[in-house]
Amino acid sequence: MLILCRMLNFSTDIFDVIVCGAGPAGLKTAYDLLRQSNGKISVLLLDRKDPWKEPVICAEAVSVKALSKYWEIKERFVRGPLSGIYFVSPDGTKAEFYRKNCGLQLNRAELHRDIFESAKALGVLFDFRTRCVGISRTESGFWNLEVENQGNSQILTAKVIVDATGPGDKLTAKVSELSELENGKTDLEPAAFAIAEGIEHSREHIELHFGSEFRSGYGWVFPRDGVEVNVGLVLGKESKAEGISSRKALEDFIAKRYPTATIKGFYGGLIACGQSMRPLAKLGVFKAGDAASCVNPISRSGIVEALKSGTCTATSVLEWLNAKNDSEKRLAEKAAFERWYALQGKTHLHIAHAKKAFGVIPDARLNRSAHRLATLPREKRTLWKIFFEVLALSPTLIWKMRSFLRS
Ligand SMILES: Cc1cc2nc3c(=O)[nH]c(=O)nc-3n(C[C@H](O)[C@H](O)[C@H](O)COP(=O)(O)OP(=O)(O)OC[C@H]3O[C@@H](n4cnc5c(N)ncnc54)[C@H](O)[C@@H]3O)c2cc1C
Repeated sequence: MLILCRMLNFSTDIFDVIVCGAGPAGLKTAYDLLRQSNGKISVLLLDRKDPWKEPVICAEAVSVKALSKYWEIKERFVRGPLSGIYFVSPDGTKAEFYRKNCGLQLNRAELHRDIFESAKALGVLFDFRTRCVGISRTESGFWNLEVENQGNSQILTAKVIVDATGPGDKLTAKVSELSELENGKTDLEPAAFAIAEGIEHSREHIELHFGSEFRSGYGWVFPRDGVEVNVGLVLGKESKAEGISSRKALEDFIAKRYPTATIKGFYGGLIACGQSMRPLAKLGVFKAGDAASCVNPISRSGIVEALKSGTCTATSVLEWLNAKNDSEKRLAEKAAFERWYALQGKTHLHIAHAKKAFGVIPDARLNRSAHRLATLPREKRTLWKIFFEVLALSPTLIWKMRSFLRS
C-alpha cells in the first residue's frame, strides 16, 4: 500500500509549474520561467540528486559561441580553453582543425551550480533528494506528481509539469493521454567513458576517433586538467542489435590505443539524439532537453541544446499559463514544438538523415581522407574542407547526404 506523508516543507503542495530534473534543461527552464515572469509564478525544481554531484555523465566540451548565447561564461565552471580538434582515422592518422579558443572544456557540475544559484536568487523552490515517480491528471485538469524522498511518498500538484529527466520517458510513458508526445528515445545511443591518466594528449585539442569499431558513433579523448583525460565512445544504436556492449568496446579501444593508461573509473550513459515530428507538449505537460531528444545527432552535443530547449520550453509554458481558454492552451502546446523546430529541430532533422550515410564510410576511405588532409597547411583545414574531403572520396555518400546539404 502506498503510504503518503508530507516530507517536503513548502507552504503549499500546489504549484504553477513543477520542473522534474535539474540538468541543464531543467535548470534553464526554471531560471527562464522566473526571469520571464518577473518571479510572478511558483516554480518547484526537483531532482533525485544534487545537480553538482560528480561525476556528471558527460565529456563536457562545448563551443564558446554556442554557449555564450545561452549562458554567460564564467571562469568558475571552465576547466580550460579548447582551440582545435584532431580527427583521428582508424590507422591513427591525425588531421587537425585549429581555431584559437573556439571551445571550452567545462566543469559541468559547477555550471549547474551557477545556473541553480541564479534561479534560486529569482525565487525557485527546490528539493534535490526527491525522485519523480509518475504523473496523473486530476479532474480539474491539473497534474498530480507522485514523488519519493528517502522511502516516503507524497503527491504534489501543478498546473504544468516539465519533464526534463534526461534520456527516455520516465514520466510520460505510462500516461495514455500523452502517448503521442516525443519520448526521448528517437535515436537513443549507448555511450561509455573513463577518467584516466597516462594518455598523451594536447590540453587545447579534443580528439575524435572514427572507424567501424564505433559503428556510426565515434571515440574521444578530451582533456581535463592537463593530467587526467575523459576517454570515451558513443556507439550508433545499431550496436544494440549486434549485442555490442559500450563498456567492452571502450575497454578494447583503450587497450588498443592507450595500453599504459591508468583508469580511475568507468561510467556509462545514453545519448538522446534524433529529431522526430512528435509534439513536445500536451495538456500542460512539456518535454525539454534529452527527454525531448534534443541532442545533435552527429556531434552528439547536448549541453547547449538542453539550455536552448529550456529557454523555448519556458516561453511556451508562460504562454500556456497566460492562455485565456483551452484553445489558446492548445496553441501554446503546438508552439512548443514549432519554437524548438525553428531554432534547432529542423537542422537536427537534416543531420539525422545524413547520419546513416556517415556510419557506412569504410575505414580505408577514412584513412585516405586523413592522409590527404594531414598534408594540407593548417589554415586550409576548415571544418567544411574536412567534411568535403571525406565526402569527395565517396560519391555515393554525396547522394545520401543531399538532405544535409539542403538548408
Ligand atoms: C557519455 C556522454 C558524454 C557526453 N558528452 C557531451 C559533450 O561533451 N558535450 C555536450 O554538449 N553534450 C554531451 N553529452 C550530452 C549531454 O550530456 C546531454 O545532452 C545533456 O546533459 C542533456 O541535459 P538534460 O538536462 O536534458 O538531461 P540530464 O543532464 O540528463 O539531466 C537530467 C536530470 O534529471 C534527473 N532525473 C532523472 N530521472 C529523475 C527522476 N525520476 N526524478 C528526479 N530527477 C530525475 C537526473 O538526476 C539529472 O540531474 C554527453 C552525454 C553522454 C551520455
